[in-house]
Amino acid sequence: MRRVAVLGATGSIGASTLDVIARHPARFTASVLAAHSKVDELVALCVRFRPRLAVIADAALENELARKLRHAGVDCAVAGGPDAVTAAASGELCDTVVAAIVGAAGLESTLAAARAGKRLLLANKESIVMAGPLLLAALREGGGDLVPIDSEHNAIFQCLPGGRPALAAAGVRRIILTASGGPFRGHTRADLAAITPAQAVAHPRWSMGPKISVDSATLMNKGLEVIEAHYLFNAAPDDIQVLVHPQSLVHSLVEYLDGSVLAQLGNPDMRTALAHALAYPERIEAGVPPLDLATAGKLEFEDPDTETFRCLALAFAALRAGGDATAILNAANEVAVAAFLGGTLHFLGIADIVETVLAELPPEPVVDIPTLVARDGAARAAARRVLSRAYC
Ligand code: NAD
Ligand code: MG
Repeated sequence: MRRVAVLGATGSIGASTLDVIARHPARFTASVLAAHSKVDELVALCVRFRPRLAVIADAALENELARKLRHAGVDCAVAGGPDAVTAAASGELCDTVVAAIVGAAGLESTLAAARAGKRLLLANKESIVMAGPLLLAALREGGGDLVPIDSEHNAIFQCLPGGRPALAAAGVRRIILTASGGPFRGHTRADLAAITPAQAVAHPRWSMGPKISVDSATLMNKGLEVIEAHYLFNAAPDDIQVLVHPQSLVHSLVEYLDGSVLAQLGNPDMRTALAHALAYPERIEAGVPPLDLATAGKLEFEDPDTETFRCLALAFAALRAGGDATAILNAANEVAVAAFLGGTLHFLGIADIVETVLAELPPEPVVDIPTLVARDGAARAAARRVLSRAYC
């Protein structure tokens, strides 16, 4: 029985994970459920999944959670605060951790799970974008395995022989990440000036949380995924290509030296990646309808428009700049996306903020977590300054 800690249980990935777990009660148990602040949703999940431990990251809500669980007749341990999330990720109650917290808030728990040798199902791409070298070191230290959940990286993982081998030794020429292009594919910069948050979060293919939906609309999501691929597969920036594929049926491809290109296809539903990663190396039912290629229509591919969607170019530039530039990019982007969702920044301003902050804070070496967290804070402060200068 695999004992799974679902960090970010109340989110979109959390829901997909729990759906797969519920289909296989003899294989998996959700032994830890953690969320940020939605107490009632967390309680409802605890009633259904009966975890050994429930954690609420907002410590002020711990008593409320304990009281509501008692009233609901759920007998499990309760903890509150970010440190409790991190402790749960490395604690005895789980052997598998689904890192599905959104944003830099997921960093410490992801690292803790890696260091403790858990099987790490990584959805929280921001943690690897921020701290790639530290996460890889933590994985080596812990000796556990990492299976990517991001659909593109999960696809690449599936197209490589035996997990995450050295690419050159495996005869890989390059990795091709597909991108849906988001809701504004084909639009011009002029079209994008007046985009509203509601338009940006309405993704044509995937149903996701608000932050990643905005990232998909700006193509920053693909930029973060290029960085994620660089660290996960040790691929040079020049060996990673982005290809727009609006149907989102081909989730990514690996091109080999002999000319073979292997792809992973499936309906756009995160339960495929989650089922794959939970059961790996076995295969299990995920609840995803079979892909019917005869009725799927045309599969199209095109190059991304990085002049309109500048965030993708900025992410490549940050990756090439090295050091902690990708952490700076991520922090500035989180602040800019929050401002856009809050109605204080226009859509095209997201790239402007990220570009300005990257220029203000030249890269420094990635040394350790405290330094990185301080740099993340400095980048957020710089982003807020730029925001107040230019947009208030
Ligand atoms: P979401 O907004 O739906 O859910 C986020 C979850 O994180 C919630 O459970 C929330 O309670 C929790 N959370 C937020 N802040 C927290 C904090 N400070 N401490 C503890 N928990 C906190 O987001 P999502 O779409 O499920 O995405 C989660 C992660 O997975 C993101 O990093 C995203 O990039 C990645 N991802 C998502 C998808 C997808 O299809 N949704 C696909 C690939 C990767
Ligand atoms: Mg993805």
